[in-house]
Amino acid sequence: MSSELPNFEQALAVVSAYASELGKHLHSQREEVELSDALGRILAEPLLADEDQPPFSRSTRDGFACRAVEAARHKQLQLAGSTRAGEAPAGPLPPGATWEIMTGAAMPAGADAVMMLEHVENRGDQIRLLPTRKIKAGENVVLQGAQAHRGDVLFQAGSKVGAAQIALAAACGHAKVGVFKRPRVAILTTGDELIPIASTPGPGQIRNSNASMLAALVTSHGGDPWVLPNAADNDESLDAALLDAAEVDLLLISGGVSAGKFDLVEPALARFGAHFYFTGVRIQPGKPLVFGELRSHERAASHQKDRRKRPFYGLPGNPISSAVTFLLFVAPVLAQLAGSLGDGPRFVLAQLRQDTDRKGKPGLTRFLPANCDFSPAVSRLPQVATVPWHGSGDLAAFARSNCFVIVPEEAGLLEAGSTVRILLP
Ligand code: AMP
Ligand code: MG
Repeated sequence: MSSELPNFEQALAVVSAYASELGKHLHSQREEVELSDALGRILAEPLLADEDQPPFSRSTRDGFACRAVEAARHKQLQLAGSTRAGEAPAGPLPPGATWEIMTGAAMPAGADAVMMLEHVENRGDQIRLLPTRKIKAGENVVLQGAQAHRGDVLFQAGSKVGAAQIALAAACGHAKVGVFKRPRVAILTTGDELIPIASTPGPGQIRNSNASMLAALVTSHGGDPWVLPNAADNDESLDAALLDAAEVDLLLISGGVSAGKFDLVEPALARFGAHFYFTGVRIQPGKPLVFGELRSHERAASHQKDRRKRPFYGLPGNPISSAVTFLLFVAPVLAQLAGSLGDGPRFVLAQLRQDTDRKGKPGLTRFLPANCDFSPAVSRLPQVATVPWHGSGDLAAFARSNCFVIVPEEAGLLEAGSTVRILLP
């Protein structure tokens, strides 16, 4: 039955092709934000250098600016002046002289190198490079414009703003930066058993943890989450919820996509004019995952401000299934909607610390919650061990993990010491 379903790689390829097609037709809106609010946002325009970087040739050491050819002869050089960081460039440096200089200070005109404080013999105003030391032009100096020239692109549009980019923008005087508006992502959970987190579950009820988890995942992947009220497992409730959710950039539905009697999401989406790219993937957890697109449809169109295509996902309701399928298949499309250049799922190689039995249905790629030590001894791969868990509803095991070990569909026992691929959150 499951053999018609795409396998893990095939489904990834479908999603990645969809994401790049989406990127071609996307006109993301931009907004200006204060630099202090820009962390994690996606740059809508390149960061340009307002001045040469550095704006003046500067010393990278405390010491004595000199002409390297003169200093290299180890003769006494007459101290001719001094420049601290923050002072305007001074000089010129007379022939046969040297100039005291501090780290970050502007080089005096005529000097081309800096002798480190620790490398000279200092007799009052006579300075000499120690005989054991050599010096060449350019030593301990960063020339004006060495890093960038005025107007150069320092960082391209579509890049994510982190601490380094914030520093760069600050250095160039950008108190505000242009970023893409975050795509609006509707989160619709479904299930008669679900109650709000502040309520006490009655018999057979559980709290709705997916709404909070998916909102967190959406935020951390650059989206603006909009959590809709939970929908009950009946057609009327689902139809009404889908109408409400029609105006977003991306729709995430949780639950109701398995093969059970009350799994009514797929038919509801079909009534809504959905085009399905796949309705299941050969992975575990996450096999019932549905991916598609809402297209113009009488019922939907009258409620939509415009007729853009809207990708949607039906995520299996088990929390770990939702998380894994989000990381693998939602994140790349969300990144594209956010205007980000390439932000697919992150895989790295790690070494397995213990024998790991695949213990699941054959023919499915498995994702096992695991804990990876990313700072093992030098020259070793990250060391990973699966965490004991009780299936895809085991939130406590999920919370104790920091990655997933990927067990290929054809694999049997994975032996301790073998190299495995892991999925990072
Ligand atoms: P479903 O995909 O609707 O068949 O749900 C599969 C399992 O996940 C069931 O045990 C549900 O109770 C659970 N589940 C579904 N939705 C949520 C949710 N929003 N929060 C926590 N658990 C959920
Ligand atoms: Mg359900």
